[in-house]
Amino acid sequence: MFTMIDPFGRHISYLRVSVTDRCDFRCVYCMAEDMTFLPKADLLSLEELERLCGAFIKLGVKKLRLTGGEPLVRKNVMSLVRGLSKRLGDGLEELTLTTNGSQLAKYARELADCGVKRLNVSMDSLDRDKFRTLTRWGDLDQVMRGIDAAQKAGLHIKINAVALKGVNDMEFDELIRWSHGRGMDLVFIEVMPMGEIGEQRVDQYLPLSMVRADLARRFSMTDLDFTTGGPARYVRIAETGGRLGFITPLTHNFCESCNRVRVTCTGTLYMCLGQEDAADLRAPLRASESDELLVEAIHSAIARKPKGHDFVIDRRRRAPAVSRHMSVTGG
Ligand code: SAM
Ligand code: SF4
Repeated sequence: MFTMIDPFGRHISYLRVSVTDRCDFRCVYCMAEDMTFLPKADLLSLEELERLCGAFIKLGVKKLRLTGGEPLVRKNVMSLVRGLSKRLGDGLEELTLTTNGSQLAKYARELADCGVKRLNVSMDSLDRDKFRTLTRWGDLDQVMRGIDAAQKAGLHIKINAVALKGVNDMEFDELIRWSHGRGMDLVFIEVMPMGEIGEQRVDQYLPLSMVRADLARRFSMTDLDFTTGGPARYVRIAETGGRLGFITPLTHNFCESCNRVRVTCTGTLYMCLGQEDAADLRAPLRASESDELLVEAIHSAIARKPKGHDFVIDRRRRAPAVSRHMSVTGG
């Protein structure tokens, strides 16, 4: 059967692949500074990742996003991008990445040559010092050079910014003007309770309903029907002419239209970002050169895709709702 439909009638056409759990940044809401990474021996090779993606494409995946960790720090990652780009127009309609931008100056041109048209770049602050504090190891100027290179190569960029109370909330107007001034969409994301990070996430949590209400005092916002098939809800800002999105996993349930699943760099398939249930695809992938067992494992996993997530910030427990980090599953 060349299609994946879950028990709730949702067609699965979007695969997000975390190609590495490693990263050259240590964003405070994402990782602890002394993160322990997976042993390299547990990782799927790039060839195995390509074969895995190929199986999903045969089963109806039309959009593929490489993420991580930081996808562009995986050694030879461009060989995977090149391999996957050959499937564009042959089942696959879009190949894209989510990146922190640190390596973009190096790879933007090649990504564009491979048929990548759009990128999501994460950028939570335009202030050099704050950017460094937030990412612990990041260099704002380096990311800016990456964004310049990507735009020069013709790539469309969407900026993702995690909304953090008392950290970047005073910069939202500037982030809006900067993104829209450069012709980029901006999306605010609510911080999600994933993985121990050695900080109190409850203290960082800022409901986007509040952000929106505050922005409405200075900007005229019109709701848009526009969707990228994802969880963001968009508005048009009259003052800038640009689009602003809100991803609100905690205050708004976006699960009804979920068309996506996620695979980690060890070949674990997560049917929902906010649930623990998973399926191992590495064993069936390695068990045989034919894809029969793999396809069977994928189908039986999709048949268990849950209706939705149960994210709640538990103010008493102060513990993450999902124990794995976003860098493992890919944001
Ligand atoms: N390293 C790449 C990057 O930063 O864009 C790709 C992976 S990162 C895990 C993907 C997205 O998840 C980023 O936009 C990041 O800001 C977001 N993210 C990470 N941890 C998060 C959390 N706990 N809550 C909400 N968003 C988170
Ligand atoms: Fe790295 Fe992205 Fe996580 Fe920041 S959000 S630590 S850049 S994986």
